[in-house]
Amino acid sequence: MSVWDSLVGQDKAIAQLKEVLAAPKDLAQSWLICGAPGSGRSNLALAFAAALECPNGGDGTCPQCKAVLAGTHPDVSVLSTTTVGIDIDSVRRLVATSEQMPQMGRWRILLITDVDRMAERTTNVLLKEVEEPAANTIWLLCAPSAQSVLPTIRSRCRVLTLAVPTNPQVSDFLLKKYGKGSGFEPPLTDSQAHQAARLAQGHIGLASLYATHHEMVTSRREILEKLLRLVRASDAVLLADDILKIADDQAQQSVEERARRRQQDFRRDNGLGADETMPPRLLAQYRQLDKKADLKREQTRATRDVLDRFLNDISSLYRDVGVVQAGAIDQAGLVNLSLRDQVVALSLKLSGREVIDRLDAVETARRRLNGNGSPQLVFEALLTALVPPFRPKN
Ligand SMILES: [Zn+2]
Repeated sequence: MSVWDSLVGQDKAIAQLKEVLAAPKDLAQSWLICGAPGSGRSNLALAFAAALECPNGGDGTCPQCKAVLAGTHPDVSVLSTTTVGIDIDSVRRLVATSEQMPQMGRWRILLITDVDRMAERTTNVLLKEVEEPAANTIWLLCAPSAQSVLPTIRSRCRVLTLAVPTNPQVSDFLLKKYGKGSGFEPPLTDSQAHQAARLAQGHIGLASLYATHHEMVTSRREILEKLLRLVRASDAVLLADDILKIADDQAQQSVEERARRRQQDFRRDNGLGADETMPPRLLAQYRQLDKKADLKREQTRATRDVLDRFLNDISSLYRDVGVVQAGAIDQAGLVNLSLRDQVVALSLKLSGREVIDRLDAVETARRRLNGNGSPQLVFEALLTALVPPFRPKN
C-alpha cells in the first residue's frame, strides 16, 4: 500500500515526485500542480503532502500518512472552496500559519486546491510567501492549467502537470471501486464502467458520479437528444429552460448530499449517534455548519459546475460530428456512442466550418458564464446558435 494508490493514470507525475522525495536537499518549496478538472490534482497534492511528512516516503500506513490523508494532520492545512472564489481573509490566515514551526511532521504544508479562483488582490497576499517560503514550509498550489494562474505566481513555482487518464484506466478504476466484490450495490457492470469512463472524458470525479448515479447518464442523454431535434429558435428557448431546471435540481441534490455528510462527520467527531439529540453546548457550532447564506453560495457554485458540465456534453456532440466528418471514428472513437446514428445524420447536415463555429459558440458560452453572465441568456443564445441551418431541397 502507498499514498499514491488512489490516483488514476498519473504514473509519470508520481515518478517525478518520488525522485524529488529521494533527494530532499533540492526540494522546491513552492509547487504549482496542474491538471484538468477531475484529473485528481488535489488528491495528488495531498498524497505528496503525506509522502513529505511520512518517515518512509509515503507508505500510506503510518500515523503521519493516515493523518494527512484524513485531513487531521496539524501541520498540513488545506484551503479549498465550495463557493465561487477564495476570500482574502482565509489566505491571510493561511499565510500566518505558514510562519509557524511544524508540530508533528517535518514540514508545514499549505495546500490551496483552486488557486485560479483567487482575485488578483488576494493573489498578492501570497506572492512574497511563495517567492521566499519560511524554512520548513511547503506551498502546494493547484489549478486546472499553468495558464489559468497569474504569471507572477506561476514563475515562482515548480510546475507539475498531470496527465488526462485514459478511458481504460478510468474504467479499471471504476470497476475496482464499484464493481463485483467491491461491496457497492448493485455492482457496476463492465459496460456501465466503460460508458461512464467514455462520457466523463478523463474526469475521475465525473466518471464516479456517472457510475453511481445512473439517472445522470439518462438526463445527459435526454438533453443531447433534444439538442439533436432542434429545428426552430423557439425550441432553443424551451430547451434552455429545461437545462436550467435540471441543473438547479442536480446542484441542489449535491449541496444537500454534502450538507448531510458534514452533519454526519460532525456527529462522528463528537461521538454522537445518528439519532442522538444535539447537546446544547454543541448546538451553536452545529448550526454554523449550514448557514443559509453559505448554502446559497454553494448552490450558486454547484449550479455553475453542472452547467459547465452540460457545456462539455454539448461540445462532445460536435466533437463527435467532427470525428465522423474526418472519417476518424476508428482512431478517435465516439464519446456519444449511443447516439451514433443521430451524430452521423448531423454530420451530413453541417459543413466542417459550421461544426467549428458551433464548438466556438460553446466556448463563448463558457466564457460568458464564467464572467457571471445570466445562465438563462447564455444558454438561450448558445442553443439558438446551434439550430441547424435550414436548406430547402431543390
Ligand atoms: Zn507513512
